Amino acid sequence: MYRLIDGKEVSNYIKGKVRDEIISLGEKGIKATLAVIIVGNDPASRVYVNNKKRACEATGIVSREYALPEETAEAELLSLIAELNNDKEVNGILCQLPLPSHIDEKKVIDAICPEKDVDVFSEVNVGKMWVGDYDVASCTPKGVIELLEYYDIPLEGKNCVIIGRSNIVGKPMASLLLEKNATVTVCHSRTTDLSFFTRNADIIVAAVGRKRFVTADMVKEGAVVVDVGINRDENGKLCGDVDFENVKEKCSYITPVPGGCGPMTIAVLMKNTLAVTKKQNNV
Ligand code: NAD
Repeated sequence: MYRLIDGKEVSNYIKGKVRDEIISLGEKGIKATLAVIIVGNDPASRVYVNNKKRACEATGIVSREYALPEETAEAELLSLIAELNNDKEVNGILCQLPLPSHIDEKKVIDAICPEKDVDVFSEVNVGKMWVGDYDVASCTPKGVIELLEYYDIPLEGKNCVIIGRSNIVGKPMASLLLEKNATVTVCHSRTTDLSFFTRNADIIVAAVGRKRFVTADMVKEGAVVVDVGINRDENGKLCGDVDFENVKEKCSYITPVPGGCGPMTIAVLMKNTLAVTKKQNNV
């Protein structure tokens, strides 16, 4: 019998703790402010930005939105970031990705000063994560760790297989699982015989971006399956990378989509905004 991992419950728990700390910072006259930049009219980005705004409201973090038109020049965006870097009222900055194709994402990410980089995408903060000396960790992977820990799922010595090696999910996921003393294998599009790895996994983290990619025959009896993917099925319904209906019966724990990793990413973003605010105020 599998147990469903409830990302909504865990994210509410984390946001509640963030809110408590934001209130006590407020009593010291300190407020936390997150600047969110969105360029263009990508509907998915709009949804994400609105969700982040709502989470700020729920936690007491002040959110400032900078909505720029699609045709915004790269230089203009970089100058806004420079301004926000120097704005003492702004504690955290994030620029919603993807950006229009005429803007160099890497340049933009690295323009955000590491002290305010709450998405943890900058080279400096990614490096800090890998050496285990960090205040903020990548939101989605850290959200996965928080989920596993909330359910007391042991990580030490476990065979963890990550499917996907992106800079925002797969790679930082490997770093955080290694830190927890798991044995980590990162699989990707050039992996030969993916099932060989997944069938030996105690924990699978799927971050591919393809619906029903992880099938029941790829999963060992009793495995923990974490589905990071966000896809649409034939009916336009939100779904993950895992063939949930068939895989769940083999699992000890499994995350649903929606309601699994998605809410966790935003909860960790709130946690990161709190962490940078405390650091900037020497709290
Ligand atoms: P990406 O496209 O950058 O990376 C996908 C990865 O999948 C690549 O590393 C690639 O090597 C791997 N891959 C592709 N085909 C494969 C195959 N046949 N076998 C094995 N590996 C294969 O995507 P991403 O940004 O890492 O996102 C992955 C998924 O997670 C997407 O669905 C995305 O929407 C979702 N996502 C969710 C959250 C969240 O908050 N829940 C956050 C970020 C991303």
